[in-house]
Amino acid sequence: MSIEVHHIQKRFGSFTALNDVSLNFPAGELTALLGPSGCGKTTLLRIIAGLESPDSGQVLLDGEDASARHVRERQVGFVFQHYALFKHMTVFENIAFGLRVKPRAQRPSEAAIREKVKSLLELVQLDWLADRYPPQLSGGQRQRIALARALAVEPRVLLLDEPFGALDAKVRKELRRWLRRLHDELHVTSIFVTHDQEEALEVADQVVLMNKGQVEQIGTPEAVYNHPASPFVYGFLGNVNLFHGRLHEGVLDAAGARFEAPGHDDTRDASGVGYVRPHDLDVERYAPGAQGIVVQLRRAHAIGPLAQLELERDDNAELIEAVIPNERFAQLGLKNGDTLVVRPRRLQVFAQQEGGTAR
Ligand code: ATP
Repeated sequence: MSIEVHHIQKRFGSFTALNDVSLNFPAGELTALLGPSGCGKTTLLRIIAGLESPDSGQVLLDGEDASARHVRERQVGFVFQHYALFKHMTVFENIAFGLRVKPRAQRPSEAAIREKVKSLLELVQLDWLADRYPPQLSGGQRQRIALARALAVEPRVLLLDEPFGALDAKVRKELRRWLRRLHDELHVTSIFVTHDQEEALEVADQVVLMNKGQVEQIGTPEAVYNHPASPFVYGFLGNVNLFHGRLHEGVLDAAGARFEAPGHDDTRDASGVGYVRPHDLDVERYAPGAQGIVVQLRRAHAIGPLAQLELERDDNAELIEAVIPNERFAQLGLKNGDTLVVRPRRLQVFAQQEGGTAR
């Protein structure tokens, strides 16, 4: 089932939680809603589910206005951060619950319920836990059971609100791979709320970046990571170096160097900021006449395949972070205090508006 939201507006008192949000969630895809705490992700999810109503705007399920449809009719499955399993019921009964409470006419037979629960337990690879009670499970197992329970009623949409938020880093990583495999098997249209950028980039078909109740960017993980549409997205999706300077006729003058700034051809002088990822910086030993930003190596962490360098400019500006292959680091034979020159292989410039925000 495809989901569309059109011009959704939601206020709580005088606070605007969602401001004119319009989005498309294609059928069968897994979309991540990503953004900092309080940006409106959960509110949007609850509006799609029908648990909350928007002040204005529309939710379309398979092209049909959903406002008239009650939560039950929307055929939505939920998984929340805090597993809401029934403690006094076995795992088996927890999964069977949604089927047992169906109206008599729609309720499957006991044999069909047993078959369904068994196949769901196999799907989440926990068939050996059928007779246990929730307190006897690990956090990761409970979330997989919560997912099996949500899937039991064959939802047409699956909404996951930080489902792995309460788990430790290693289990989180395992479960997100597992969720991706499960999604590839079932292809239920799914929306996954997270504030963890790595999780969103690894799991989703498309990522929606939200900030302060608005959508900043939407695209595939590759597109949003490699071509951030705004300074916010740059900063939110991984580490980035900022070079503040003057922008004039397609050139940014910053950090004692000149960088091309295509698209910023204004002849008037303006403030501009160059954004460069640490792994998009080339590092060389300084030689007189070298082009680039002159820095000193303050500290290096060279563990594993990559060396992370902290570099300092003469004018005491913010430290620059560069990441280069460890082999290259060894080849350069660097030590703290050495003078180097760095050159961005890729840099994106945003003009800075009066008042401070870069665009
Ligand atoms: P988190 O990652 O912390 O869960 P979120 O992006 O999911 O954040 P929401 O839960 O959607 O954020 O909340 C968005 C904003 O709306 C927050 O500032 C929150 O305090 C506010 N808010 C949410 N629900 C209500 C409510 N029922 N009454 C008042 N304010 C609310």
